[in-house]
Formats: sequence, C-alpha cells, structure tokens
Amino acid sequence: MPGPYFPGQLPSDCGHYYPDVLRVRDEKRAKGKYVRIIDCVYCGRLERKLNRRALAPELVRQLEKNGVDLGVEGQDLAKVRKRAIARLKRIHD
Ligand SMILES: [Zn+2]
Repeated sequence: MPGPYFPGQLPSDCGHYYPDVLRVRDEKRAKGKYVRIIDCVYCGRLERKLNRRALAPELVRQLEKNGVDLGVEGQDLAKVRKRAIARLKRIHD
C-alpha cells in the first residue's frame, strides 16, 4: 500500500493519503450539516460528515452562500494526482 508521501503525513479517513485521496467538493446539506466528497484511488468515492467547528471560517461562509465549495470536481484526477506527486517530490526530496 503506497503512501505516506512524506514523513509525518496523516492519512485520510479511509486510511489512504493525499494525493491518492482528493477532495472533490464540500456541500451544505441540511441546516448546519456539511459533507465532504472525496475520491480515493483505492476506495472510490466516499462521503463524510464535516465538523463545522473544525472548518475554516471562509469555507463555512462559502458553503452558506453557495451551498458548495469545489475541490477537484470536473478536473482530470489522474493529472491532478500526477502534478501533486511531482510537487511533493520537489518539496520533500
Ligand atoms: Zn482510501
């Protein structure tokens, strides 16, 4: 199983690591309820509840205003992952 990609990297909820795990988008559902949709190379698409208190204030504002905050939605995920791995290599090698 690949990853972590640098020392001390914390895994996502599914146990895999960025950029195998990418944030697709965050959504506001019911009142005060937020979810994050992630895409994992190994687990596929997953949805998890977000703890509002742990979110950045700008993200909460965005979700309250538009109902959604896009991550990699609509992008070529293979390219996003390739670029991210190249960037991590530059930083951590
Ligand atoms: Zn996973």
